Amino acid sequence: MAPLRRGDGPNKFRLSSVDTATTTYEGDTGWAKRPPATVACGQCGSEIFQHSARDDLDCPRCVAEYGPEEFGDLELLHLTCPVCRSRMAQGQRHPEQFDIPEWATCERCRYHWEFEHSYDG
Ligand SMILES: [Zn+2]
Ligand SMILES: [Zn+2]
Repeated sequence: MAPLRRGDGPNKFRLSSVDTATTTYEGDTGWAKRPPATVACGQCGSEIFQHSARDDLDCPRCVAEYGPEEFGDLELLHLTCPVCRSRMAQGQRHPEQFDIPEWATCERCRYHWEFEHSYDG
């Protein structure tokens, strides 16, 4: 399993709309459009796949069930690119404020997701 790479993600992507004429990668913004995630069950450690941010997390191995609001309490293993199903690089911009990823990018197809559209700093 690839180690999480917090804080050292690629910086070569740009969100400037100027570049969209020559690049075709897709992107989404907002928690509701978050890519599918795989987290570790807090009780047995099994992988739980959450297709969308509003889905409940039901462990396939034990009886643990988590509501979507408990996502931040679970260990995030990786996000899955909704376009090409690669594992995405992910990171945080305000790790002191959030327990959740704030951006994710696919190094294969350049799909990019942002938690918030605008952020200071
Ligand atoms: Zn479990
Ligand atoms: Zn992709």
